[in-house]
Amino acid sequence: TGAPLFLGIDFGTSGARYALIDRQGAIHSEGKRAYAPPVGGGAAGWASSWQAALFQLLGDIPRAHRPSISSISIDGTSATTLIVDSETGELLAGPFLYNESFPDALPAVESIAPANHTVCSASSTLCKLVSWWNTTGGGGGAGSAVLMHQSDWLLWLLHGRYGVSDYNNALKVGYDPAADAYPSWLMAQPYSRLLPSVMAPGAPIAAVRDDVRSQFGLSEECVVCTGTTDSIAAFLAARTGGPGRAVTSLGSTLAVKLVSEARVDDARFGVYSHRLDGAWLVGGASNAGGVVLRQLFTDEQLAALSRDIDPAAASPLDYYPLPRKGERFPVADPDMAPRLQPRPESDAEYLHGILESIARIEAKGYNLLRELGATAVEEVFTAGGGAQNDKWTAIRERVLGVPVRKAEQTEAAYGGALLALKGADRREGAMAS
Ligand code: ADP
Repeated sequence: TGAPLFLGIDFGTSGARYALIDRQGAIHSEGKRAYAPPVGGGAAGWASSWQAALFQLLGDIPRAHRPSISSISIDGTSATTLIVDSETGELLAGPFLYNESFPDALPAVESIAPANHTVCSASSTLCKLVSWWNTTGGGGGAGSAVLMHQSDWLLWLLHGRYGVSDYNNALKVGYDPAADAYPSWLMAQPYSRLLPSVMAPGAPIAAVRDDVRSQFGLSEECVVCTGTTDSIAAFLAARTGGPGRAVTSLGSTLAVKLVSEARVDDARFGVYSHRLDGAWLVGGASNAGGVVLRQLFTDEQLAALSRDIDPAAASPLDYYPLPRKGERFPVADPDMAPRLQPRPESDAEYLHGILESIARIEAKGYNLLRELGATAVEEVFTAGGGAQNDKWTAIRERVLGVPVRKAEQTEAAYGGALLALKGADRREGAMAS
């Protein structure tokens, strides 16, 4: 076998991807599979689709690479939840998808959790658990039921151990990553026995099950490691470095993620922090962004018009490009109206004004995080469709006042592979000591 390789698999909102990298981060193989949406089978059909995609992807990896795979990690959509019987492996309920809402559980969750806690959202993992618990009358007496996040479940298909998760996925069920424990208000609940134990993302769990290993020709040394959420995996892919480094995603909406020494949470702005080793990953998402550009111009027009923009000149136009009424971050105002007037005769000037206005929203976002106590931004990496626009990058550098560059890697699967690499190193470390 060749040099060791590390496998990351991403289960995003529309499909699954894998990336196989070496220790230097070079990609040796990658691929993707769409999910077949469940036909008539209800929610459980999603689980079968994911399982099928997982094993198809393993089969897609060139056979010659497989014995070299040292470790595997998987990321999934945050708050996607399954309830599984830990005696039979049978799916008892779910999957409840990341965006599914369980308002019936909200009053009960709000009555036990601190005000404005991340679990106090109808789509949180905890609302899903509580809704299931209440509608089945205490889980229908299934004493062996366990809660799994999407990535826990997919990893379990590979390693076969029950009750293991990571502190990124566990945030929305109520895990406290600062204390490294579930809080007492949660442990006091009867359903707390369903909660998984929690490790750092990219921690070795166990070897690959024998049947999976022999089916795909994996090595006996190959270790399965804890995962994370899809958006954190995408952040990790950019390999930004420590506090002050940030990723701005310029997709349909504008989202910022900043590595901070301090943890910052503010429900008014939808700002919260994930743990990232010894630091925090603070995030916020605006409703403004590329979706408005797409309403006005085709991507070809965007590229052509951008050529006529002088990014060194400040645009006098001041817009707020929202697709509809309402903003959350960096201004919390459910009634804020979109502002895209006055429209100049020149489309290039119009686009310049819009790009610069979005850049100001981005700057205001990083300033807000700073005001809330986060580390000041020092360098920004860019992901999403807007990252390819060099003129916009130059405008943003002027408005933000820090270096801005395109992230080399933005695929969550790549971030997952980096977690696998970390897990393989931790195992080496454990064996050496
Ligand atoms: P999504 O959030 O939908 O995954 P993408 O990351 O694919 O979005 O980015 C798509 C967005 O990028 C679109 O809203 C489009 O307007 C924007 N976009 C595409 N090309 C350019 C460009 N040259 N300059 C600025 N924005 C662009």
